[in-house]
Amino acid sequence: MGINLDNGVELRNIAILGSTGSIGTQALEVIRQNPERFKAFILTANGNASLLIKQALEFNPKYVVIAQESKLEEVRSALKNSNTEVFFGTDELCSILERPEIALVLTAMVGFAGLIPTLAAIKAGKNIALANKETLVVAGELVTSLAKHHGVKILPVDSEHSAIFQCLAGEEHNPIEKIYLTASGGPFRGKDRKFLATISRKDALKHPNWVMGEKITIVSASLMNKGLEVIEAKWLFDLNPSQIDVIVHPQSIVHSLVQFTDGSIKAQLGLPDMKLPIQYAMAYPKRMANDFPRFNFMDFPNLSFEEADKKTFRNLDIAFFALNTGGNMPCVINAANEIVVAEFLKEQITFLRMSEIIEKCMSEIEFISKPSLEDYIETDRITRILANQFVTNSKF
Ligand code: NDP
Repeated sequence: MGINLDNGVELRNIAILGSTGSIGTQALEVIRQNPERFKAFILTANGNASLLIKQALEFNPKYVVIAQESKLEEVRSALKNSNTEVFFGTDELCSILERPEIALVLTAMVGFAGLIPTLAAIKAGKNIALANKETLVVAGELVTSLAKHHGVKILPVDSEHSAIFQCLAGEEHNPIEKIYLTASGGPFRGKDRKFLATISRKDALKHPNWVMGEKITIVSASLMNKGLEVIEAKWLFDLNPSQIDVIVHPQSIVHSLVQFTDGSIKAQLGLPDMKLPIQYAMAYPKRMANDFPRFNFMDFPNLSFEEADKKTFRNLDIAFFALNTGGNMPCVINAANEIVVAEFLKEQITFLRMSEIIEKCMSEIEFISKPSLEDYIETDRITRILANQFVTNSKF
């Protein structure tokens, strides 16, 4: 719930799931600059106890939750003289997400781990600021129908989806003909597969325009991130796959575009700074003043657009195939992708091997056309096992 203060300003209690990550820390920066508007009510981390403790001491949340039980004592002991209660694990997180004081849940954890807490927050009637795209990739139908049932808003944080959401403001009754998701093309734009065969972890972690967590940086380089965003867009905006197109825009200034049935196109522009879509989702439907750097047209006299290279970067077609196939197929690509990215980061497999293993998992995991939540959990589990087997089995 928002609390109306005497000055008419609403103070929103925000639960930040994944507060120690790239999105989470930027969300806390927005809170730091707007203490009269937002309060960090829950902060969570996987294993980064020291940063979680530091954040708790600064923001004084009601609760913190650490996912790794081995870190629980460290966090409890550091916060024993504070007002913050400390919990651990998904079950405890899901139960405190029901607290009536919470106005908005920002899902900023990475990966499949976001699914269960997001579903719990929706069931508790909380509006969601969704950064954790994996939730919609894995179980878009389940999540969006549950949100509809509970009257919950899903506010996109991903910059492309936030752009589309902003373009759609005031257009509620006007059908969309098509959306264009922009992609920077990543650090290997214009390169061929021979080049991709040689690249290292360090090369792939150098994104030209955005500073992000490691997983999303790697999947931006492999274009799987754009593929996941295509699936995310389908569910957020209720589109057919044929209504979604990807266009490479190396400057990352036009964050995405909507074409309406009269052929008119609306775009949202701005400097590449995730604080902007984070703040938009947190303050929605209001726009809040800030001192973020402003876009200067003279710094970008040429904004360019080009076709995505689907031959070199196979992941885009893989994602479209999964989207068209439906069922548990997007869940398979998500789970396989999480494994291959982790293994690439550990330098256990090459860059090109990532797509090969994902495709192999897609052909081997049993297809389920109408999965239940349990089916998604099982698909995720067995796909991870299979993908790990392919990682160690170099023959395939
Ligand atoms: P980071 O890797 O920087 O942060 C991930 C956060 O999730 C950390 O707080 C981490 O805790 C926590 N976490 C990781 N694993 C688990 C787990 N198993 N259980 C609970 N918490 C976990 O990721 P990003 O901030 O880059 O990305 C977060 C999400 O936002 C992703 O879904 C990403 O695709 C999406 N996104 C990110 C963008 C960006 O600019 N970074 C842009 C658009 C979308 P700990 O620190 O303890 O490991």
